[in-house]
Amino acid sequence: MEAWVEQLQNSVNTLERLKDYIEVTPAEEKAITTLNTKWGTTPYFAALMDPKDPNCPIRRQVLPSLEENVNEYGVDNYLMWKENRSTDEVRPDSIARQYHDRVAFTVTDVCANYCRHCFRKELVVDRDIQFRMDLEEGLAWIKEHTEVRDVLITGGDPFILADEKIEYLIRKLRELDHLEMIRFGTRTPIVLPQRITPALKRILSPYHKIPLWINTQCNHPREITAETARAVFDLLTCGVNVGNRAVLLKGINDDPETFRQLHQKLLQVRIRPYYVFYCEPAPGIDHFRTTVEKGAELIRDAIRGHTTGLAQPMYVIATNIGKIPLMPDYYIMGKDEKEYTLKNYQGKLTQWPNMPA
Ligand SMILES: *Cc1c(COP(=O)(O)O)cnc(C)c1O
Ligand code: SF4
Repeated sequence: MEAWVEQLQNSVNTLERLKDYIEVTPAEEKAITTLNTKWGTTPYFAALMDPKDPNCPIRRQVLPSLEENVNEYGVDNYLMWKENRSTDEVRPDSIARQYHDRVAFTVTDVCANYCRHCFRKELVVDRDIQFRMDLEEGLAWIKEHTEVRDVLITGGDPFILADEKIEYLIRKLRELDHLEMIRFGTRTPIVLPQRITPALKRILSPYHKIPLWINTQCNHPREITAETARAVFDLLTCGVNVGNRAVLLKGINDDPETFRQLHQKLLQVRIRPYYVFYCEPAPGIDHFRTTVEKGAELIRDAIRGHTTGLAQPMYVIATNIGKIPLMPDYYIMGKDEKEYTLKNYQGKLTQWPNMPA
């Protein structure tokens, strides 16, 4: 059996198995036994948890918490609103649309790791809603919509699909003349790096004028291992670009030191930071959310000027009408007819000529 399949079959998703990895606290045990929710991770990722520290950043992303019972600031029926599913345009369940030229195509609700902060938790983790994830229906819709030039394949985690299905999806999409790129959103390089197998590499490898891009999700430097580095290198040798979309998580990555280390370490393993998302108001994840301004403050205080420019992601809120950037805005301190006054990361000022339109 392939190592990645074995990882999935031995998912750490019972109290018994969990106790092989960590000292489970009474609160964690109560959450696991009383919350009606899907949880679990791979043995590989479980081994990265701190056995003694309940505040371990990996542990908090993996284990259900009693705090999930609180929902003061979350939006009920969040996913339906967020993905614009109640608009006039008739679309298959698998197609989420916020833009004219690109769509998200949901192909599975299965994941290797069920992230507690998942914005799709109603579908993936809590399973309160169900979508019809019919590949043919989605493919047929994309074929008809020739204005779509970019398809983002998502889930769940699309790399949980069998090789044949991934190969089929890529092949069918590449038959469409109107597509310019195919993207996958997958957490496997982080939670299941064994998934990047020689067989998968053969599927992703052949040169084609329609490029493949992958965005993974890594939220803390401790999630990055030698196995991650190897998986990413393998993807890059296939001509697949690898980016990261982190989620800003309170108490996990919202301090300047961790935030900078995360983005530096991503570059060290050749992953290009792409987005940092404000943690979305799905129900029951209040405890993961920071102030809206926090991400911009972190970019100002920990990234811009403090480390390599390539380490800087764009900070965005992913809303129902598209992603809205919330980057720091302290740079322009003043402006008159002659010049701008600009401020750098150290608070130093400089002047720049004002060019009339
Ligand atoms: C995030 C998202 C996209 C892709 O957005 P980019 O900014 O191009 O990465 C496309 N469609 C939907 C519905 C999305 O949520
Ligand atoms: S891998 Fe993605 S879809 Fe799956 S639980 Fe995590 S955030 Fe949600």
